[in-house]
Amino acid sequence: MKFSKELAVPPHKKVRLKDYDTCETLGYETEHEKGDDNDKVDVLMEKTIRRLDDLQYTLYAEGKRSVLIVLQGMDTAGKDGTIRHVMSGASPQSCKVTSFKVPSTRERLHDFLWRIHQATPENGEIMIFNRSHYEDVLVVRVHDLVPKKVWEDRYDEINRFEKYLTENGTTILKFFLHVSKGEQKKRIEARLADPSKHWKLSEADLKEREYWDDYTEAYEAALGKCSTKYAPWFIIPADHKWFRNLAVSKIIVEALEDMDPKYPTPQIDIARMKRLLK
Ligand code: ADP
Repeated sequence: MKFSKELAVPPHKKVRLKDYDTCETLGYETEHEKGDDNDKVDVLMEKTIRRLDDLQYTLYAEGKRSVLIVLQGMDTAGKDGTIRHVMSGASPQSCKVTSFKVPSTRERLHDFLWRIHQATPENGEIMIFNRSHYEDVLVVRVHDLVPKKVWEDRYDEINRFEKYLTENGTTILKFFLHVSKGEQKKRIEARLADPSKHWKLSEADLKEREYWDDYTEAYEAALGKCSTKYAPWFIIPADHKWFRNLAVSKIIVEALEDMDPKYPTPQIDIARMKRLLK
């Protein structure tokens, strides 16, 4: 079974998020929390992370292509946790993260893709976007930050931009971390109860929660209009953190395996170097 096949949004599909179960695990089960060394899912996760490490190293050595990973989701969906998991098997030399916040005054003086384009990965790199250009059709749409006509045109603009990037050697994978409203409530409660998590909370999270239905509608539009053959969206059931981590890392590994990076042919005379080495 390929995770990417199971979880990809087919191009032009009309997405209704309530049809997607946030607790889905594709038949995988785990006693993960118990910390059993032989737990099948834990073993598979470790294997996947090791494979990711090998593949990203080869991609870096090859130095000709790159991977762009877009992470989106409601507050508490687990963007940070996913990044920590994926990065645990990657070198910071070639696997990087950019977080997109409210645009600065300078960024606002440009088109919405300007800051995004500057953060795209160099050849050999994997770049993870923690939030992305999709905020410009999500928070911007929900809160009417620009006129409708402006955000409406952005779906096509995004598709054209992503096509351009893929034509220039970047593989794009976009993950929507799908949590239920009930699970979000539990996570906010857990954060309130844990002093080490207080820094992650703000009253704005509660305010945004009131817009849950509007965000759902905005996500449905973005997933439906911008899942393309060249830059697919994946809907990741994210109520179970272990499954979210497994699914995202598996899809990245599957994509890297399809890319099949190769070490470059050495430009040196190995035999001669061996002879010369004193
Ligand atoms: P996070 O929630 O990702 O951990 P923050 O709490 O700093 O980080 O939130 C970043 C904020 O920036 C979010 O509220 C997000 O909606 C906002 N943001 C990101 N991009 C844009 C944008 N293009 N326009 C307006 N707001 C944006």
